[in-house]
Amino acid sequence: MTSYSRVALVTGANRGIGLAIVRSLCQQFSGDVVLTARDAAQGHAAVQQLQEEGLSPRFHLLDICNRQSIRALRDFLLKEYGGLDVLVNNAGIAFKDDPTSLHFQAEMTMKTNFSGTRDVCTELLPLVRPQGRVVNLSSAMSLVALKRCSPELQQKFTSETITEEELVGLMNKFVEDTKNGVHLKEGWPLGKLVPYSVSKVGLTVLSRIQARKLSEQRTGDKILLNSCSPGWVRTDMGGPKALKGPEEGAETPVYLALLPSNAEGPHGEFVLEKNVVQWEPGVELPPWLEVCGVL
Ligand code: NAP
Repeated sequence: MTSYSRVALVTGANRGIGLAIVRSLCQQFSGDVVLTARDAAQGHAAVQQLQEEGLSPRFHLLDICNRQSIRALRDFLLKEYGGLDVLVNNAGIAFKDDPTSLHFQAEMTMKTNFSGTRDVCTELLPLVRPQGRVVNLSSAMSLVALKRCSPELQQKFTSETITEEELVGLMNKFVEDTKNGVHLKEGWPLGKLVPYSVSKVGLTVLSRIQARKLSEQRTGDKILLNSCSPGWVRTDMGGPKALKGPEEGAETPVYLALLPSNAEGPHGEFVLEKNVVQWEPGVELPPWLEVCGVL
């Protein structure tokens, strides 16, 4: 029987928090670490940067919005490793102070942050071995959006029985509602970065559904899947005024990626600063959200 090495993989890892997660995993994970990026030159440059620090990540191309690109990565993992031990879904986008229409921003943001990440999970979750760890980089902005949407939407997003199909329907409806200019009437939140926040509501809820499915369909495999917020982090997305450096932003995702093999949880939770935060509209928001100007 072939014995394969253990392997961890991070999406969108050529810069920002993703690069810091790869660095930390290279230092702490016992097995290979695959840095993925949608641009080969930027991905190789990131690998070279880490090699200069004495670390040895591997590189593979991955555009999370391209199903063929995801399948090529899946085939690589199956051939080289026979599976996957740690998956960190980090890739994401946000429009800030951008003159394009709300509908365009909603469509593009949903395509990457929700649908792209979901497609990666659809292709790669079946590869995850027993005691595997899956981390989805959501955002505390998902909590802000949950607080601000209508009671009907809040009830749907916090439901213990919502299905993946129902969630996809809601995310598509948000994009359609921005196109028709009826998003506020339909109960979607008002405020800064709404397309980003709603896409991250989708990702937090998707993570709860995926965890539930794993518990039902792979009972005994002890796979732990969670979503998290890295905090407010100084990257191209977070901006220069953010409170944490990328290494600090990587701490909670890496903690979840490296939960010990005998850990029973967290599973299906939203995690902030290594603590589980209740996914409910009444939850107290972290004070730094005020500082970062989104409240
Ligand atoms: P960033 O500096 O803007 O980096 C985003 C990364 O995602 C880049 O590597 C980018 O690749 C990649 N990416 C975007 N679309 C992609 C696609 N279709 N396929 C593959 N890769 C793609 O952002 P960050 O601050 O490091 O954020 C990382 C994650 O943390 C995101 O999910 C973000 O929403 C979340 N987060 C960040 C903060 C914060 O304060 N920074 C707060 C909460 C949550 P390119 O270089 O090719 O564009």
